[in-house]
Amino acid sequence: MPRSAPTPAPNSVARRRKLAAGNWKMNGTAASLAEVKKLKSLIRKDRLAADILICPPATLIERLARMAKGSKVAVGGQDCHAKEQGAFTGDVSAPMLADAGASTVIVGHSERRTLHAERDADVHAKAEAAHRAGLVAIICVGETLDERSAGKADDIVKGQVSRSVPDAATPKNTIIAYEPVWAIGTGKTATAADIEAMHHTIRETLRARFGAAADAFRILYGGSVKASNAAEILHVPGVDGALVGGASLSAAEFYEIIKAATPKRPRSIKAA
Ligand code: PEP
Repeated sequence: MPRSAPTPAPNSVARRRKLAAGNWKMNGTAASLAEVKKLKSLIRKDRLAADILICPPATLIERLARMAKGSKVAVGGQDCHAKEQGAFTGDVSAPMLADAGASTVIVGHSERRTLHAERDADVHAKAEAAHRAGLVAIICVGETLDERSAGKADDIVKGQVSRSVPDAATPKNTIIAYEPVWAIGTGKTATAADIEAMHHTIRETLRARFGAAADAFRILYGGSVKASNAAEILHVPGVDGALVGGASLSAAEFYEIIKAATPKRPRSIKAA
């Protein structure tokens, strides 16, 4: 049940570990597993400040999960059907993803919302299906350029969060990804100030529903994150990681993004 919303302590700081999540979209065949092998060896000795997730096409989940076993790389799906099974040709259910080795699934990605006419109610049902299967749901939200230009970005995103996130969502089973539609695959990124403001709006929307527990939900930013801008984006206050499309296809570039999650320590000044 939704809880009433206590006013959050102004300086409450939740410890949220960052997440670097790669969305391969409809890219990748067996040959692409070489990138995962490369990534595994790159991260082997590192003390990482971020969890790592790769969401390959459904055809690669099982092989990738086998390959990633025992490493710091988790595997996820890019979408799931709201039902467990049935006459839904071409679809993949949440229990199937879990059976193949996925721990997580992206739902409500803007490409699903736009190209497959998925509405918030569909995303809500898919997130519930993910939870029933024991998967973490990464629920994507974000405004279009027209909506932002019309000053409606906040209302659009608040509405998407309210309607797409199930009542049973917890910080353990749900992650929100703020992905402005106009920034996905375009090379454009939102400004740090706009990202901070929208993440704050999302957190307040979660607080109104889940109370203090809202402080523990991870909120990712997505939209043209790459090695060259990751450090700036990942350290915007309220950003708990990144959902990365194109730049996650290269192990070397994704590794740079993962490393960018580590806060830079100020250089110590040697005593004279
Ligand atoms: C995405 O697919 O979620 C995404 C953010 O893509 P890109 O990083 O390529 O913009």
